[in-house]
Amino acid sequence: MLKIKNYIGGELVQPASGGYLDNYDPATGLIYSLIPDSDAADVERGVEAAKAAFPAWSRTPAEQRFEILMRLVALIERDLSSLAEAESIDNGKPLSLAKVMDIPRAASNFRFYATAAMHTANESHETVGQAINYTLRQPLGVVGCISPWNLPLYLFTWKIAPAIASGNCVVAKPSEITPMTAYLLSKLCIEAGLPPGVLNIVHGLGPKVGAAIVAHPEIKAISFTGGTKTGEDIARIAAPMFKKLSLELGGKNPNIIFADCNYDEMLATTLRSSFSNQGQICLCGSRIFVERPIYEKFKADFVARASKLKIGDPLEESTKIGAVVSKPHMEKILSYIGLAKEEGGTILSGGNQVNLEGRCSDGYFIEPTVIEGLSHSCRTNQEEIFGPVVSIMPFDTEEEVLGYANSVKYGLSATVWTENLSRAHRIAAALDSGIIWINCWLLRDLRTPFGGMKDSGIGREGGFEALKFFTEEKNVCVKI
Ligand code: NDP
Repeated sequence: MLKIKNYIGGELVQPASGGYLDNYDPATGLIYSLIPDSDAADVERGVEAAKAAFPAWSRTPAEQRFEILMRLVALIERDLSSLAEAESIDNGKPLSLAKVMDIPRAASNFRFYATAAMHTANESHETVGQAINYTLRQPLGVVGCISPWNLPLYLFTWKIAPAIASGNCVVAKPSEITPMTAYLLSKLCIEAGLPPGVLNIVHGLGPKVGAAIVAHPEIKAISFTGGTKTGEDIARIAAPMFKKLSLELGGKNPNIIFADCNYDEMLATTLRSSFSNQGQICLCGSRIFVERPIYEKFKADFVARASKLKIGDPLEESTKIGAVVSKPHMEKILSYIGLAKEEGGTILSGGNQVNLEGRCSDGYFIEPTVIEGLSHSCRTNQEEIFGPVVSIMPFDTEEEVLGYANSVKYGLSATVWTENLSRAHRIAAALDSGIIWINCWLLRDLRTPFGGMKDSGIGREGGFEALKFFTEEKNVCVKI
């Protein structure tokens, strides 16, 4: 059985403990590879390798970093098919989605930051007649990147690319649930000629490897994407050490649909924003508020479309709904569907585990589920489920729906559907969300600030925000 290896100091190595964990294919429920059960000793090796690489990497001209990272882009694009297949098997997502979203985006992340690093400039401030100040922006040193399982390579590279492009060396941990594409990336880094130690990937469990990265005194910053509870634990350890922290956490995003919307476009997009990646995208809208005049029509059309989505083997081209990522996660989602019923909700479609025939008979599949009849304040509508489950609710006024939308502890993203321009701007300004989509969803421009308000995190990724996060300013004042 394939044994994934750590990538430390430019080499693929066994974990110090010699122990391995099982890696499941969620579509079949079978163990198909083994993951290093690394610990603090492996993190220490990663930090030592990163420290040794930092002086040379931080002084490597941006053009050379650009060339190395662009070689990596070319290799990711060369291997698009095999990386997409690996992602689909590891995560359960439809192969068709991994081919057009996850892997192309991983290449884009490196391309974007390789080129961005060539276009940064330092600021200068003239104190007229007295001095010129210029601000150096220098890499931090060794930084830690920790990412989740839902968009494995996509989110892993979203952190690593700006960190490396701006001259840092990285100790990174992908989710232990989906380690495969990070392992394949480490092989591509070797092929691309990334100098040893610039990127170190330590596989293993969050409370062992992740916690050791967070607590390591020589790791200067932590860029983390994952659950709010884990973010809290990380902040508790890292904040008193005065580490820079970027925390991209959970969400419970509202979709606000007004009667004057472009109905067909709204319906098609709402289906995607509800069930893409089995609802396991932090930006998925799980609370759908529909203005009363179109509520019944929306309900009928949406339920009809949701119940037709093909649930199937993720490797089959026609599959729209693949497996959810793990058995415990499937059980969590099903328990929330049970809770919704207890709270008085009516299941309009779905609601059940699916047992497919053949290869995927023991996989973790759940029907796309639409619930109505719940109050905006019940647990089902307040807590993150992170699966193919949405709740639909009618509303009458803007004020009322804003109250519902902002009633959760999260504030990651929101979608608004209306053809009324003034209303769109008004609602966007009033929503407590870091990202607002008007008449669209997941239309990404990598230059824009990405992140959440309230319990959805602190800091922003994307564009120059990430380059700023991974560098520190130093002002130099020269008397004239
Ligand atoms: P977790 O918080 O469980 O895990 C995220 C990462 O942190 C994993 O690599 C995990 O390792 C690691 N980890 C776990 N415990 C610790 C610890 N004590 N110290 C350091 N690292 C630790 O999240 P999930 O993987 O379950 O991901 C789903 C969550 O991510 C959802 O809440 C979702 O909303 C959020 N998310 C947010 C996004 C955003 O941009 N705001 C984007 C995508 C997802 P291991 O897997 O081995 O436990």
